Amino acid sequence: MTKWWEKEPVRFECQADCFKCCFNPGLVYFDREDIKKVSSYLDCIPKEFKATYLVHDDGHWALEVEDEAPCPFLTTKGCGIHEVKPKQCRAYPFWKENLQTKNMWRMVGGFCPGIDKGPMVTLESIKGFLKKFRL
Ligand code: SF4
Ligand code: SF4
Repeated sequence: MTKWWEKEPVRFECQADCFKCCFNPGLVYFDREDIKKVSSYLDCIPKEFKATYLVHDDGHWALEVEDEAPCPFLTTKGCGIHEVKPKQCRAYPFWKENLQTKNMWRMVGGFCPGIDKGPMVTLESIKGFLKKFRL
């Protein structure tokens, strides 16, 4: 079945100095490749990285962002691991759950000010994001 976002234009542009999604409480999942890349970027071994930052949740490794504080990798200049940030962050807001219906996308737009801004996002890019992060 054709998805709503295949029939109409979707626009998105991450807004400078926003970082709202890095304050959002919840889990940020790291797959094996994410763990390898971030550990190497932080100059530690995956075991140390997992022990320091991650919890094991239902067979997946994840960073828990609490209510009171943002993601520990957020700095005053933005994501401190931007070059190697996990797929979940790279793909946001193009997550399957957010794109399920147009209403859901609108609701996410109430949180993320980048939605409906900037250039049109190509179908290939949206499909690429959906492939990049799926849980
Ligand atoms: S909430 Fe949206 S606009 Fe803000 S930093 Fe996250 S992706 Fe970018
Ligand atoms: S890893 Fe980076 S982009 Fe992802 S939530 Fe943390 S600071 Fe934000």
